[in-house]
Amino acid sequence: NLTNRLSRAMKTLRGEARLTEANTQEMLREVRMALLEADVSLPVVREFVAKVKESALGTDVAGSLNPGQALVGVVHKELTAVMGGDLGADASELDLTTTPPAIILMAGLQGAGKTTTTGKLARLLVTGELIQNGRKIPKKKVLVVSVDVYRPAAIEQLRTVAGQVGADFFPSAADQKPRDIALAAVDHARKHHYEVLIVDTAGRLGVDEAMMQEISMLHGLIKPIETLFVVDAMQGQDAVNVAKAFGEALPLTGVVLTKLDGDARGGAALSVRHITGKPLKFIGTSEKLDGLEVFHPERMAQRVLGMGDIVSLVEQAQRNIDIAEAQKLASKIKTGDRFDLNDFREQLQQVKKMGDMSSLMEKLPAQFAQAAGQIQGGQAEKQLRRTEGILNSMTPLERSKPELLKATRKRRIAAGAGVPVQEVNKLLKQFEQMQGMMKQFKKGGMGKMMRAMGG
Ligand code: GDP
Ligand code: MG
Repeated sequence: NLTNRLSRAMKTLRGEARLTEANTQEMLREVRMALLEADVSLPVVREFVAKVKESALGTDVAGSLNPGQALVGVVHKELTAVMGGDLGADASELDLTTTPPAIILMAGLQGAGKTTTTGKLARLLVTGELIQNGRKIPKKKVLVVSVDVYRPAAIEQLRTVAGQVGADFFPSAADQKPRDIALAAVDHARKHHYEVLIVDTAGRLGVDEAMMQEISMLHGLIKPIETLFVVDAMQGQDAVNVAKAFGEALPLTGVVLTKLDGDARGGAALSVRHITGKPLKFIGTSEKLDGLEVFHPERMAQRVLGMGDIVSLVEQAQRNIDIAEAQKLASKIKTGDRFDLNDFREQLQQVKKMGDMSSLMEKLPAQFAQAAGQIQGGQAEKQLRRTEGILNSMTPLERSKPELLKATRKRRIAAGAGVPVQEVNKLLKQFEQMQGMMKQFKKGGMGKMMRAMGG
């Protein structure tokens, strides 16, 4: 697996201060293999590895990292960029800013998950659970309609789904023409002041001319503000050809990658993004109607790289250093140096490495555990990940000077971590409490705790 591969490749790299052609070659080959295993298509892999190489060469290997770790950092950064990080923080947001109704057209092959996603999306909009720009958007009045006249069961399926999520359903029938249904639905939506109209379309098993013509005719007719291409992540390599055909036939505005709850490692995300040039906006993570999540480039990059593995690898390599870090931190606290969010983050990482969170938490002073994130029982891991996500979305400067964190920065951080702004505020508040406590724990208790964390 990737961990072993990179481990082996890294052994030869210790002690070098820069990334060079020679010392990155083997690592890059491992990265290439890992991407291919994750189902990224070959031309995309080639181009990506070339990009990583370009950005890696000459990179200084900073501080406690070795060249292997530094390269992993470069790969992660580049992968996040090509996943959509380069499009800016709001690229994955749904655009609903138009004279109502905002029309969303769903395109994709049969079985890709269009009808299910129509229901999921309607649900997010109806319940007001959709988070954009770090905050929930107001509840919407949503109408859904199916123009899939080729399979009567498909229309019934949408009716059922709509009923389950509390969206209104515009009836259609197999003997009608798709264009007539579409026009009638738009008309009805206008007259009854719907804010959003989602148009679910027919799909064939493979790309065919008639289907492409029909959907591009519908597009011209109803002029949707969003045209979402729905694609099954399990399709792996095939997804590329399908994406290409749809991208050429329609001015897509975004992609929904479904069935990411299966074994698919998300390589299709990279390929589809690359081929269409369009942002991924959502991922489907279950067949249930609450299984739709806003897409985050960084998280997908981690998934494709098997970042869990890489993180543990880096940790393994850094274990010795970490003990030194922990001691440094302990003495910092003892001498009353300023304890900042960088220290807090470092500490969380150490805590994470200890594995069993709940048993560790029992050993900590009660108020401390509380301040570290109201962590309790099985919630601990999840909370820790969210806290870490927030801290990771800050710049080192922001972590060392939390007072810089005014509204704009907070919103950016919340968006980066995929949490509401309130959670950032909560974390900062807890951190403040913790800082206060640090002062009290300077003697005795704290030093002991830090030794425990250092392993
Ligand atoms: P359509 O032909 O494009 O409308 O596809 P459907 O919405 O009917 O979905 C096809 C199948 O995929 C159904 O069995 C859905 O339950 C399933 N499905 C759709 N999205 C997801 C997803 O994100 N995860 C899982 N596990 N199944 C999904
Ligand atoms: Mg369908």
